[in-house]
Amino acid sequence: MISVKDLKEKLKYSSNEIAPAFRRAGQDRIAQRLDECGDFVRVAYCVKCHAKHLSGAKPCRNRYCPVCSKLRSLLWVARLIPLLEHWIDGGGYLFLLNLTIKDTPTLKEGLDTLTGAWRTMTHEGRKNRDEWKTRFAGGVRSLEVKRGHNSGLWHPHYHAILLRRHFGRDWPYFSEKWQDAVRKANGRTEKGGSVWLHSVGRGKDKTLLDAVVECFKYMTKFEWHGASPATINELVKTLHSRKGIQTWGVLYGLAEQTEEQFEKSDYEDLRGFVCRACGFHEFEFDLIARSEFEADTDIGDLVKIDDGNSRTL
Ligand SMILES: [Zn+2]
Ligand SMILES: [Zn+2]
Repeated sequence: MISVKDLKEKLKYSSNEIAPAFRRAGQDRIAQRLDECGDFVRVAYCVKCHAKHLSGAKPCRNRYCPVCSKLRSLLWVARLIPLLEHWIDGGGYLFLLNLTIKDTPTLKEGLDTLTGAWRTMTHEGRKNRDEWKTRFAGGVRSLEVKRGHNSGLWHPHYHAILLRRHFGRDWPYFSEKWQDAVRKANGRTEKGGSVWLHSVGRGKDKTLLDAVVECFKYMTKFEWHGASPATINELVKTLHSRKGIQTWGVLYGLAEQTEEQFEKSDYEDLRGFVCRACGFHEFEFDLIARSEFEADTDIGDLVKIDDGNSRTL
């Protein structure tokens, strides 16, 4: 569940920085969607003490919306963590993989190189396919698009969580295969990208929660304030109809299921949540306008009952 503070900050950031950037670029439809996000906020009144709680906001589901990106990543965390915990408990291993390529002048060039190199490494030819399948039982991969810090060029890259049945060292494999695959995809001969690999789990490089959060941050991270109309238009045009998240192997189908759940979900189920003032668990609901929500300082967060798995982002 998104917190009151987080929702207020993100709505403000969206209407002050992101929507104007899209409007400047003539992307009025997207700007309008962003401005309409959270038009109605659902308030849960405690039946016992009448304390007011945030129980959700009507999502716009636009991929550039910071509120909906957060809602989407919360949903992914909720779905993935139990599966991955189960995998570790069953004796399996997890790794977080980051794959980059050299920054590119156009986003299309960058995405074509990334997707091409991934396909080569995982699918092209029997040898590559077998090697990939032998190492990894499945995984989830997400795309992140940024502008390079100093280069002013595009910096698309992948984060992936890989599931392994048995322990193994994959660093030499990736460092060789990814370089070869990138060179093949962009037709160049110089070193084409970087690989980071971390073990995930209790007592490992990264905790499971950190790894999943890192994998499901925003798909696009920008200095929206300074983004030129040309940059915004290139972003919208190039990302149109590209999928941000894919799952395969033992996680096959999870991406489609989770995205479908996200598209349908309106307000979160309040099972497991209680009133922050008195601990009661029955509520009455009301929809209020976004402006009213932003002005109301009495609305607070529900409390999630600790089931031993409670986590915050
Ligand atoms: Zn109460
Ligand atoms: Zn939204």
